[in-house]
Amino acid sequence: MRICLLASGSKGNSLLVESGQTRLLVDAGISARELRKRLASIGVEAESLNALLITHEHTDHVRGLGPLVRQLGLSVYLQTDLARKLPDVGKSECVHEFADGEDFIVNDLTIRPFAITHDSLAPVGFTLSGEQGKIGVATDLGVATRLVVECLRECRALVLETNHDEEMLRDGPYPWFLKQRVRGNHGHLSNIAGGSLLQNLLWEGLETVFLGHLSETNNRPKLALDAVNHVLNKQNVCAPEVLIGRQNLPTMWAA
Ligand SMILES: [Zn+2]
Ligand SMILES: [Zn+2]
Repeated sequence: MRICLLASGSKGNSLLVESGQTRLLVDAGISARELRKRLASIGVEAESLNALLITHEHTDHVRGLGPLVRQLGLSVYLQTDLARKLPDVGKSECVHEFADGEDFIVNDLTIRPFAITHDSLAPVGFTLSGEQGKIGVATDLGVATRLVVECLRECRALVLETNHDEEMLRDGPYPWFLKQRVRGNHGHLSNIAGGSLLQNLLWEGLETVFLGHLSETNNRPKLALDAVNHVLNKQNVCAPEVLIGRQNLPTMWAA
């Protein structure tokens, strides 16, 4: 099982998971055309995708959703409340609904969606489990609840959020209401909060940590890395590789 973040940040998010016979995307937040281009750049044909999972309806997660489903006839998995609200996903026969906390299966992967706190209709994170272990994806969360921590335990790879540096957000150009939104309980995790979440998820099987959804305005990759390395350097349970998701190009494959 391996992962590649195709795009990550406030302007668009999508990641690819590959496991045995299965290739799926989590979110399609860049245009279908750009997604196809990035897939091609890592040697993957869009036609070979089996499914698309959606975390929530913000544009930076669904921008390419409709075109991609229409072009590929791709199965798309949506939380029930979201499926009923999103008007134009494409072909209705492609839409599969799921409920928070209820596992569903795509080929050889068992997927568990779990509720997160974020200012959208019914946002979720996912774990994906297969023969080669479990990976966890949780970006766009205001707070890391106990449920989030429980669900993300014992993953071999994690995609976590380090959205902003608290001081850069405080002193930066965002208007006050937006600053409040970002740092609120339904906004995004700071570097420090992302590091604290990671601290609760360390175990000997953890191989890779992707840091995602970094703000281009309120963060720098080095600050996110420093916060996470501060956590990792204080323990000797595991020594995961840390990779940073970028807005404009895919990461390397990992895990
Ligand atoms: Zn969002
Ligand atoms: Zn987002």
